[in-house]
This record gives sequence, C-alpha cells and structure tokens, in this order.
Amino acid sequence: MQRARRRQPQEFDRVLSSMCTEPHPRAHEAAVEFLATNPGDPATYQTVADLETEAVEQLGEIAGLDDAYGYIASGGTEANIQAVHAARNRADGSVGSDHAEGANIVAPESVHFSVTKAAEMLGVDLRTVPVDDDYRADLDAVEAAVDDDTALVIGVAGSTEYGRVDPIPAMADLAHDADARMHVDASWGGFILPFTDYEWSFADAPIDSMAIDPHKFGQAPVPAGGLLARERETVDALAVETPYLETTSQATLTGTRSGAGVAGAVAAMDELWPAGYRQQYREQQTNAEFLADELADRGIDVVEPTLPLVTASLSPATFDALRDEEWRIARTADGDLRIVCMPHVSRASLEAFLADLDRVRS
Ligand SMILES: *Cc1c(COP(=O)(O)O)cnc(C)c1O
Repeated sequence: MQRARRRQPQEFDRVLSSMCTEPHPRAHEAAVEFLATNPGDPATYQTVADLETEAVEQLGEIAGLDDAYGYIASGGTEANIQAVHAARNRADGSVGSDHAEGANIVAPESVHFSVTKAAEMLGVDLRTVPVDDDYRADLDAVEAAVDDDTALVIGVAGSTEYGRVDPIPAMADLAHDADARMHVDASWGGFILPFTDYEWSFADAPIDSMAIDPHKFGQAPVPAGGLLARERETVDALAVETPYLETTSQATLTGTRSGAGVAGAVAAMDELWPAGYRQQYREQQTNAEFLADELADRGIDVVEPTLPLVTASLSPATFDALRDEEWRIARTADGDLRIVCMPHVSRASLEAFLADLDRVRS
C-alpha cells in the first residue's frame, strides 16, 4: 500500500521577496488553538470575539488611536477594499445600492494593487497621481486630482515597491478641505513605523482609517490584516443585517473566517509590542543598509532603503541566474530587484545571497 506523501511547506531561508514572514512561535500556538473558531459569528464564538476586540485595541495603540474601531481582516487587501467601501457609503450617507454616483478616490501611483480591485468592485473611479523623485505622492498632483466627488484620498505609509512614506498630514488636509476622507495604507509599515520619525499615524494627522497587517511585520500567522477607523460610523457604514446568525449585523467582507488570525495577532502583539518589534525593526533596517552598501560597492545602482526594503538595478540575466539558485526574489514594475528584509531574512542569508551574486556575475 502506498503511503500518502507528507507535504511540507518550503523553508523561508531563501525567501527575499515576501512581505510576510514566519509567525512568532507563541502566535503559531495560539493560531492552532483557535483554528476552528469563527469570529464571523461573534455571539456564538464569544471568546475569539473578545480577543478580536483586544486585537483592535492593541492595533489602535500601535497606530496612535485611543478608542479604535475596526476588525481583523484577511489582509491589507480586504482592509483597503473596506476603507474604500466605507468612504463611498459615507460620501452620501447611504448604505447599500444607492451609493454615491460618480464618486472617485485619489491615490499615488505607488498605491498597492488591492486599491485597483476595490475601485473595480465598488464602482468608484481611481485617480492615480504621480510620485516625486523620492517615490512619494506629489502633493500638487493630489491637490489637482481631488474634487467635489472625491470620497477618499489614500496615502501609503511603507510602499510596496520602495518602502516610502507619503506626506500623510498634508494629504489629510487636502482630503478634508474637499470634504473627502483620508485612509493610510500601513499594511506593511505599520509595525515598524512607530520606531521611526515619520508622520504616519492617527496621532500624527487627522486620518480616518488605516490598513495595518499583523501578518507582515507583526509576525502573526496569515491571515491577519487590520482595518482601523477613528469613528464608529466608518465601521457602521459597512454593516449589513445578518439573519440566522446569533449576531445581527456584520461589517466584514468575509463571512466565516478562522479565529487563527485573530488569536495569532493578539499573541504576537502581546509578546512583541513594543520592545520586540523595536528590536526587529533595528535589526532589519541595519540589514537593509548592509545589503544596500554591499550592492553599491559592487557598482550596482541602489535606491536608499529608508525602511527595510532594498531595490537595486540588476540585469535580467543576473536576476534569472539568482532565481535558478532558488533565491525567491521579485522585481519592481520598472524591473529593479526588490528585497524585503523581513524578520526571517538573516545577515547570514544576505551574505549567502551576495556570494551567489558574485559567482553568477563573474
Ligand atoms: C501587502 C500589502 C497590501 C496587501 O495586503 P495583503 O495582506 O497581501 O492582502 C496592501 N498594501 C500594502 C502597502 C502592502 O504592503
């Protein structure tokens, strides 16, 4: 009789392109314990529902928001979709089908592709505006794009390609001057930005909502994203009535969802906020600067890593040769090599990568 093949996930040691990482061991344990619970039905699964309230409070603390509203989403994609969804519904005070006709949202071209999905599904017009020489949203372009029909302006705090932080306070002012709302996508950056001087949080600017993912730098297991809102009305604008559940309304995009994400997020934040995350940020920022210096020493053009994310120009042949060595690396839209220094990316693995780079280039 043939035994079923035991399937193993791949190791993380050559994964240099991912924005996710191995969960903290305590978060892993908590996720396994809560795997079968369903926070989508909080009146039935009360323990995990209470944990979700705790998770939102903790996320609020990280993002500078007392009395936070929101929930643990499946990821930054869902959080961004729901932020657009809430802003659209609030733009004309309606929930449901008679939403704002012709509403638009304004975001820099560096915005994550999940916002394209949001615009498509929600029937709003996505106006992307150029970035400046340092890959940050150009304020004049934002101002020119915003008009009476703008429901939401989105700024990125830790962009996917270059790890840049948009001028969030100035963008929030432009949004509010036009009676629009302001959303910050800190899906990737949210757990490291508290240890920098950037102005990105609810405490730094009058922003309305935020995406902040425990399953990236938060070291929670996938799926754990976070949607935060300053006002209860933002979450209420998402709620639909739910007959046949013990609970009477639901604001999430998903229905049934595993409690693993919620429990894992709480366990990770309990363990790591703030000292563990601070140390991890310092280590990974140092690693990113090390890698950037090493690449520059080899005559390679590097974009300065202002957060732990390094982009550099590399010929397609060299890139492919490194892929053949099993390095999991990705390219930016412009074809640059992009390496994300997540917690599992050690100095030793960057040194091994550089050794392979030297070998394939020689
Ligand atoms: C990763 C990321 C997203 C998407 O999040 P998922 O968890 O993959 O759904 C959105 N925005 C930014 C800036 C990201 O880095």
